[in-house]
Amino acid sequence: MMWRIKQQIINFMYGRYGIDKLYYVLFVLFVVLMMVNAFVNSFVISLLMWVVLVYMFFRVLSRNTFKRQMENDKILKILNKFTSFYKLTIKRIKEFKTYRYRKCPYCKAMLHLPRKTGKHTVCCPKCKNDFKVRIWF
Ligand SMILES: [Zn+2]
Repeated sequence: MMWRIKQQIINFMYGRYGIDKLYYVLFVLFVVLMMVNAFVNSFVISLLMWVVLVYMFFRVLSRNTFKRQMENDKILKILNKFTSFYKLTIKRIKEFKTYRYRKCPYCKAMLHLPRKTGKHTVCCPKCKNDFKVRIWF
């Protein structure tokens, strides 16, 4: 009996997309909305919760796995930008006394420079271009 139900679920899910990281992101979003709604009890938030829930199920059951994979990559890229910005800000605050961070104008790499006040010429280790940097304090 249990085996048959399990087999039916496997057959049903065959060729469907299933769960990925975006699913968990949506789940967290759903829980956050639920908690917010417990305080404000707004119709708009309830509607949004339903939209998130339907979208979650739609993605799990979708047969267009390529498109779902693209969505997943896109959202994760945006999230990674936020988390890396947040991590860099924390690092900047922690190393404020000893280091400064500057972006290379040529390759956009973030450089980790020792804190020496004044004007300096910096050679980017990534693209080997020289550029001027001023560290005020
Ligand atoms: Zn560079």
